Amino acid sequence: MSKRDYYEVLGVSKSADKVELKKAYRKMAIKYHPDKNPDNKEAEEKFKEAAEAYEVLSNDDKRARYDQFGHAGMSGAAGGGGGFGGGGFNMEDIFSNFGDIFGGHFGGGFSGGGFGGGGRRQRVNKGSNLRVRVKLTLSEIAKGVEKKIKVNKKVACDACNGSGAKDEHSHSTCTTCNGAGQVTRVQQTILGQVQTASVCPTCGGDGKVITAKCTKCHGEGLMSSQEVISINIPAGVEEGMQLSVSGKGNAARRGGVNGDLLVLIEEEKHPELIRDGNNLLYNLFISVPESILGVAVEIPTIDGKVKVRIDSGTQSGKILRLKGKGLPDVNRYGTGDLLVKINVWIPKKVSKEEQKIIEKLKNSSSFKPNPSHEEKGFFQRMKDYF
Ligand SMILES: [Zn+2]
Ligand SMILES: [Zn+2]
Repeated sequence: MSKRDYYEVLGVSKSADKVELKKAYRKMAIKYHPDKNPDNKEAEEKFKEAAEAYEVLSNDDKRARYDQFGHAGMSGAAGGGGGFGGGGFNMEDIFSNFGDIFGGHFGGGFSGGGFGGGGRRQRVNKGSNLRVRVKLTLSEIAKGVEKKIKVNKKVACDACNGSGAKDEHSHSTCTTCNGAGQVTRVQQTILGQVQTASVCPTCGGDGKVITAKCTKCHGEGLMSSQEVISINIPAGVEEGMQLSVSGKGNAARRGGVNGDLLVLIEEEKHPELIRDGNNLLYNLFISVPESILGVAVEIPTIDGKVKVRIDSGTQSGKILRLKGKGLPDVNRYGTGDLLVKINVWIPKKVSKEEQKIIEKLKNSSSFKPNPSHEEKGFFQRMKDYF
């Protein structure tokens, strides 16, 4: 799973400018182009790898993030295009995003709708995406977590290896398209002859027809299976984010590219801490005497309790900031804080005896409100804390 350095993939130096990048990518794309390397998985991977590298390095923001954090900086929702940064590439993306890079190299077969648009559909035959939900606790979110998830999915039939044929002799070349997988039609229009290519209706783009179907999958090449997929969830994710794990979805009919696994993040509520972006909030309640005399309290954090001293004379509403005790940013832009709001608990009912004591204190000069300039300004500045 470990990824190669993007600069290395494109064979350029770290200081390469945009023109060099484009040139390098173009070279790789042409070299590993599926048209030149039919049915070559390795070339296809190289092709995707180059596209991913180019997608990141050609974008100033992503490149800066990559230079600073490496591949780790590419994970998470802000990685672009949704999902795990550059990870979720498929052939359709590559051709729709970078189609222009190839220029006239493939005899115009590209721009006119060669790939994706028309004739070559069989290579972008993609399985459907699988969707799962993952519920995470705040402590899992704080550290990042590997989750193993059991999914029901379509995989290649084990009897025919996904081909849909009974055995290796149960294929014959499609007579409609002579194995090309596409049929071309020449039409006379006012602009002259126009040639259009479309998927062969007989073989569906395979170029071959099955003469005897696999008995297990009835020629579909698929079977249902249960699989345990492990997903690495980066630290700092948030409710509603969707990660995409490329190639972990359903297999495609009769070979082709697997769909993706889409992971929707759900957050379990913490019993005491409230999440606010990368910060955590905690409401601390102390008694009137404690606020006057000061008190040592325990504050819950993601990593257990911490002791905090509340000074004597602390006003209700004051916010303590425990630096770095929040959640890490999903793009690794630091870590949030734990903000502790101090609330002085006013009793709603007091006994007769207590009432007498309070009455005595009522006229004491030290109990008369006497806020400092800073304390008076507190409500205007509340937003500074958040
Ligand atoms: Zn089969
Ligand atoms: Zn055909």
